[in-house]
Amino acid sequence: MSQYPHRLDDEELDRLIHFHGHLCPGLAMGVQVARIALTEIGAHATDEEVVAVTETDMCGVDAVQFMTGCTFGKGNLIREDWGKNAFTFFRRSDGRAVRVAARPGAFERDPEHTELFARIRSGEATPEERARFGELHVERSMRVLAKEPEELYEVERFMGVPPPRARIHDSIACARCGEGVMATRIHELDGDRLCIPCAEARRRGDDEPGAGGTARRNLLEG
Ligand SMILES: [Zn+2]
Ligand SMILES: [Zn+2]
Repeated sequence: MSQYPHRLDDEELDRLIHFHGHLCPGLAMGVQVARIALTEIGAHATDEEVVAVTETDMCGVDAVQFMTGCTFGKGNLIREDWGKNAFTFFRRSDGRAVRVAARPGAFERDPEHTELFARIRSGEATPEERARFGELHVERSMRVLAKEPEELYEVERFMGVPPPRARIHDSIACARCGEGVMATRIHELDGDRLCIPCAEARRRGDDEPGAGGTARRNLLEG
């Protein structure tokens, strides 16, 4: 009997794959994170607030959103860009919290899979290599799903409060592009209140006020 009884049945797995767009080992890792969260903390509900912090932007975040109800849009999923396969979940009602972090080596790469992936990325893969990659990808995902979460993740329980709730802030018009910006994201530069892309543009001396063009350029260069 598993310590973490929540498993996706075939129909739920299909719905998750539909949500994420494909089945991949990263998504499968996220399923294992969510299983731990559901047992230790429970799912988010209107009368039981759960806040999650993700330290990564990997595929697995989608499984966590789908299974626990902690989502970016609701503001109860917070992202730290630390590049670590780790997640923390807080239950607001009683302060119960758990950090779930991948064990070193849990996300082992198989050399054939890695090599095929490199060939696909470089555009050199043959149709046979692509097919083989797809096969390995699904196989690996299914292997991850068949494991118990504790084989892959370390679980640390503690008591704590989640980072502050997302609030509604005033919107201020950027002095350069004129678009509305949440007050907490305004940068003051030479006495002007600027949105982040405009502040960055001004700092690098690009001073042609181009409304959304600046944001677009920043996104493209980013
Ligand atoms: Zn994926
Ligand atoms: Zn602006």
